[in-house]
Parts: sequence; C-alpha cells; structure tokens
Amino acid sequence: MTAADSLGVYIHIPFCLRKCPYCDFCSIGYDPGMADAYTEAICQEMREAETSGRPAATVYLGGGTPPTLGGERLARILAQVSRIHEVDPAAEITVEANPGVLDEALVDALLAAGVNRLSLGVQSFHPSTLTALERIHGPEEAWAAAEMAARFCTWSLDLMFGVMGQSPEEAETDAERALSTSTPHVAAYCLTVEEGTALQERVARGGVDLPSPELQREMFDAVGGALEAGGLERYEVSNFARPGHESRHNRAYWLGREYVGYGAAAHSCLGSQRSWNVADPREYIERIARGRSPSNGREVRTPRARFLEALMLRLRTREGVELDGICGLADAAGETGFRERLGRQLELGLVCEAGGRLRLTPAGLPLADSVILALA
Ligand code: SF4
Repeated sequence: MTAADSLGVYIHIPFCLRKCPYCDFCSIGYDPGMADAYTEAICQEMREAETSGRPAATVYLGGGTPPTLGGERLARILAQVSRIHEVDPAAEITVEANPGVLDEALVDALLAAGVNRLSLGVQSFHPSTLTALERIHGPEEAWAAAEMAARFCTWSLDLMFGVMGQSPEEAETDAERALSTSTPHVAAYCLTVEEGTALQERVARGGVDLPSPELQREMFDAVGGALEAGGLERYEVSNFARPGHESRHNRAYWLGREYVGYGAAAHSCLGSQRSWNVADPREYIERIARGRSPSNGREVRTPRARFLEALMLRLRTREGVELDGICGLADAAGETGFRERLGRQLELGLVCEAGGRLRLTPAGLPLADSVILALA
C-alpha cells in the first residue's frame, strides 16, 4: 500500500441529546437501547467493506453528537478502524463533541483511544444566542468544555453568527472569546435555514426574526476580522487556523481525495463512484443484522458533477482552484459558457487569477455561494 491508497475514514454517530431546530444533519434523540446495536453494526459494516485493508490518513467521528455513545463504545469503534484500515501513527483522529456532553472521564477515554483532535460545537458564549439556537448548553459549559478540549494535540471551536437577535458586536465578542481560549482553529458559519427543519417551518409561519443579509454580512466581516487579527488564518471561507492546525480531514474532502463513510447516512466517494447509506439509524442496524448491505444508492460521478464539486469545494479554499484544471473540467462537462461567466465574475472583482489559480477576492469571500452559483 502507498500513500496514494490512503483514505479519509468518516464514521457517523447519529445520536443527540436534543434536536436543534436549525439542524438538517442525520440525527435522532439518543436511545440507550440502540447504542450497543449501533456500535456493533458499525464494526460489522467495516469488517465487510470493500475498502477493508486500505490505510486511513485521517479518521473523523461526526454526527450527531458522538460522545452520546460513551467513551467505551467510541474506543471500540476506533479499535475496529485500526484493525480494518492501517491507521498511520501520524493520522489525524477527530471526534466532534458539544459542551454539555463532555466531561473529564470522556476526555480521558478519547485520549486513551488515540483521538488527537476535538471539534467542539460551542456556537456562542452569549446566553441569548445559545437560547435562540436552543442549544443544550450555556456559556459556563462552553468555557469548561474549551478547557477540556485544550488537552488534545489540536482542537477546533465552532461558532455561529447570523442568529436571531444577535448583533454584529455580539458575534465579534464571540470570536474574541474563542481566541481567548487559545483554540488553534475556529469554524464560523452563518446560520442558514435548511429545508425540512423546524426553523424553516417557523420562518414560513412568520414567527422568526432573522438578521437581514446586510447584518449577516456585517457579522461575517466582524467575525473574520477578529479571528484574523487574533492570528488565525482563513484557509477556507468558514475555517480559520494557526499554521499547522488546519483540518486535514476536511482539506482532503475539498481537494477531492477518496473517502469512505460508515454508519447511517454516511457517504463514500471512491474513484468515480459516490454511494450513500440508509439515513434511518434503525433501518441501518436492521439491515446489517440481517446481513444486508446498508447502501441506499450509488452513482457514477458525471463530468458535470466533477466540475461542480471542484468549483464548490476548491474555490472556497485559500489556494483556490487551478484555472486550467477547472476550465478542463468545464470543457469535459460541455459547459461552453463557463469562460464567459468567469469573465463576468473577474470583472466584478469577486474572483481573481494569479499564478494560474482562481481565488475568491476579499469582496467575493462573503458572497462565495452566489459567486459559485453564477459560475456553475
Ligand atoms: S447537536 Fe449538532 S447534530 Fe445534534 S441536533 Fe444540534 S446541530 Fe444537529
């Protein structure tokens, strides 16, 4: 096996203590009765996977809220990853966690299991923002969890802005408070109203006062400005890190490397094929227990899909996308109008070209989604 054979390994743990109204991830309320069966199903899926034996460059346990499974079960899953995929001793092994489910015993168990990166969903240090998001934790738990997260080799803190009732000053203070924890990485996302969420229903009923796009833009600038002034570098539209602390797992996604996903709703991208598992955790467990495949679909990535992926993922990164490469993908996809559309975005000053690479300009960064849409 060579480094070129190595994969990103993603494991989905779908349990949360409570569903947040804005969340469109595959997550359900934690059911202690399902925890052992789910753990067993994941281990079984790995045993039977086609990718068994391929080395893992990164491992990422996401969700949901993985710590709801408890340290012992998470350690069992990680031990199985090591058995199935030769995990490089220098591999990045990340677990997502939330304040409110983290305690010292769990941190001890995760460290003993080889976890070297924690991704902590703090979202805010302001009680009013946390209440608006209906998070299970308050500011005290957020501070305590940040202190525990610092025991890992590296860690990340998630923030959210553009929240109901939040002011740009509060969003900026959140960024400053994040910096005061000495976190080497921050992911800062604007709240979006996703289809099928409770938040979307409330918005449709007219009961939610979301900040205007102008106010959201102000918050984008305030948060990004504070994080950069504090020494973190923006290496993707929403991700900031001190040098050497960028998420290797996410960077591999953005660069279009291969990954395998285990668990309910997990996606895999191997060669030209993309596949995904059933989203319902009960059905996932049942299928595996009956010796059936958990896969719920697969497709060959079309030239158009490859073009869109490169545009959507790589253009958002600090390095941008190779101009020749993206033009080649556009040609292969029959996107004859791409160069014209690109010319328009260059004229508007939202993207720029330097050294053969296409990047978002500072003016284009906050408008990344609409720039990409205009190019697609
Ligand atoms: S804790 Fe995270 S995964 Fe769980 S419901 Fe809230 S946003 Fe979704």
